[in-house]
Amino acid sequence: MLSYWEKKHFLNYDLIVVGAGFVGLSTAIHYKRKNKKAKVLILERGAFPTGASTKNAGFACFGSLTEILDDLWHMTQDEVLQLVDRRAKGLNQIKKEFGKWTLDFKDSGGFELIQEDQLKALDQLQGINKMLRPLFKKPVFSIIKNYRKMGFADSVKAIVKNQFEGELDSGRYLNALWTHAGELGIKILTGSTVEKIDTDSGEVRATDQQLGYLEFVGKKVAVCTNAFSRKLVKDLDLIPGRGLVMVSEPLDFQIPWKGSFHFDKGYVYFRKIDGRLLLGGGRNQDFEGEKSEENQINPTIERYLHRIAEEVIFPGKKIKWEDSWTGIMAFGQKKSPIIQKIGERTVVAVRLGGMGVAIGWQVGKELSDLLRKGF
Ligand SMILES: Cc1cc2nc3c(=O)[nH]c(=O)nc-3n(C[C@H](O)[C@H](O)[C@H](O)COP(=O)(O)OP(=O)(O)OC[C@H]3O[C@@H](n4cnc5c(N)ncnc54)[C@H](O)[C@@H]3O)c2cc1C
Repeated sequence: MLSYWEKKHFLNYDLIVVGAGFVGLSTAIHYKRKNKKAKVLILERGAFPTGASTKNAGFACFGSLTEILDDLWHMTQDEVLQLVDRRAKGLNQIKKEFGKWTLDFKDSGGFELIQEDQLKALDQLQGINKMLRPLFKKPVFSIIKNYRKMGFADSVKAIVKNQFEGELDSGRYLNALWTHAGELGIKILTGSTVEKIDTDSGEVRATDQQLGYLEFVGKKVAVCTNAFSRKLVKDLDLIPGRGLVMVSEPLDFQIPWKGSFHFDKGYVYFRKIDGRLLLGGGRNQDFEGEKSEENQINPTIERYLHRIAEEVIFPGKKIKWEDSWTGIMAFGQKKSPIIQKIGERTVVAVRLGGMGVAIGWQVGKELSDLLRKGF
């Protein structure tokens, strides 16, 4: 039962954004900056955002050598260049916008461990550098000398460095977005799960534990629920993809490397944080099982990652694990996000795969532009 005041002041908005991850917050911020008087509301189901944005590994990456080579099998060279360009520009934009200190952004480089069966990729390194030269003006990839000093297993036959990649603290990035949204007067209601959207009328039905059903109305609505969008929007080319991340106890030895590392064609990733090992990925060990929206740890993948830690990253050492969690990404036929109008009053920006740190802010800008010009 709602009061007169609640009905009068809390239910009607110029823009309602559903989902408070990187994309939802970025969309609301970009829109509000251009429409200062607009009443903007974000509805978020969790007590704080509970999608991929708060669960990820904080890699500020745009593609390893083998990933780019793999992409060239499925995409044209122009498409690959566009993808890399969008991600690299996205990283520069967030550094400029929020500052490296705020994000705890480190330009520590990206590294890929190359195994025997990937050595052929090294023959194409110069060609890929040439292809990327128009974007970066300098060589992106180089082969690390003396990589044995890093102490990885003998099965690692080379290490390729990407000098333009880095790492950040995802919690600090989300906090920066959240704080800025507040400063702009954007209202964020957490604990509000959206059940249904009428994409033409702008009616948004949400549930709240105390109040039950709430009927909001937006002159415009933006759906930014990424992997969880299939309940709200039909016919999206979108498959959820779960990812596992784990953090060790503080290590009792010095870690002889720094940066963000990829292994097993990018399916496994690791870095050091606060004297601990952060390790994640392994989705390729059970692709089907990981097409899930449920946050649950897959024991096969957990065992695989434990093995990588003790056999490849720190061979012969015993690693004790303190934290592990999962988060859900979204994938589809194409690697690019879906950004489109889906009704008279509604737009959507979803299908952020494994590079949302890099592109989330820019995707929010593109969705805000669509909201302003597409109606
Ligand atoms: C394990 C893991 C590791 C990753 N590592 C990296 C990395 O190192 N680097 C990188 O660039 N990217 C990484 N990513 C990907 C990146 O985190 C995502 O691409 C990005 O966070 C997507 O942002 P988003 O805002 O689109 O979605 P999300 O962050 O998932 O936001 C969607 C929001 O919508 C809310 N929501 C959903 N349904 C409803 C509803 N019905 N009503 C109200 N609210 C709802 C959710 O609670 C959530 O807060 C990783 C992802 C995972 C899962």
